[in-house]
Amino acid sequence: MKNYASILELLLRLRQACDHPYLVFAAALSKDSVRSKECPLCLDVIDDAVAPRECGHPACRSCLLECVQRTKRCPVCRADITFESIGTLPRATRFSVDLKTRWRSSAKVDALLKDLAEIQTLRKQNGAEGVGKTVVFSQFTSMLDLVWMALDRAKIKSLRIDGSRFENEKELSLSTSNVLLVSLRAGGVGLNLCAASCAILLDIHWNPQFDAQAQDRVHRHGQTRDVVIKRYIVNGSVEEQLLKVQKRKQDIADGALGAATEKDKKQAKLTELKLLFAEA
Ligand SMILES: [Zn+2]
Ligand SMILES: [Zn+2]
Repeated sequence: MKNYASILELLLRLRQACDHPYLVFAAALSKDSVRSKECPLCLDVIDDAVAPRECGHPACRSCLLECVQRTKRCPVCRADITFESIGTLPRATRFSVDLKTRWRSSAKVDALLKDLAEIQTLRKQNGAEGVGKTVVFSQFTSMLDLVWMALDRAKIKSLRIDGSRFENEKELSLSTSNVLLVSLRAGGVGLNLCAASCAILLDIHWNPQFDAQAQDRVHRHGQTRDVVIKRYIVNGSVEEQLLKVQKRKQDIADGALGAATEKDKKQAKLTELKLLFAEA
């Protein structure tokens, strides 16, 4: 398939459109060619591109941070890299519209605000022992930007854990925010989110593992409250098809037939792409 990269890119736009229209605008107007490149770690189009100063090989911010934590090496050239060389890269302005003057919500943002209001009411009735904090996951750090803004407008305090800062458990436990915004791919790897009892997954990733890990962080040992997990899926959209891809991946993983080589991975991705465009 010759147009593999552009198909991935278009799919990314469809997935982003399910979250918020501004995600698509921001990307379409960006002249940065890095954006349409493939990430060496997740094999998807790069989201929130960063590159280590040492070698300049780009990857998604969250993918690369997770990789550094694990291996301390660049995934492309194996150069030694550190958190500092990624963490200090300037964060470019990501939206082509002025969010302050031209703010608009989206179906998912509205749904989130409604759910958070209900959770807050429950919390008042049952106390913090009964209903914990809420963790909101997205695979797009730009979506977390927009959600942060929406919450700020609604006067809801939130704490971001998405690799743009280096948080620790102490800061988390001291925080008075009831809402935590977490990057699905890497935010707070190994972070124990027991203080939370509700998880809301704003979007759906190719890989069911990311979703499972996100849910596990709330379902940790030591969790004493009932856990509620919600996932937002737009009816009749690419997200419904992605659910099928996730199921197929899970079936393969369960059967321990996981693709091992790079070539196998590419082949598996092609099969997934065909599944995405298959009739329901
Ligand atoms: Zn990536
Ligand atoms: Zn490199």
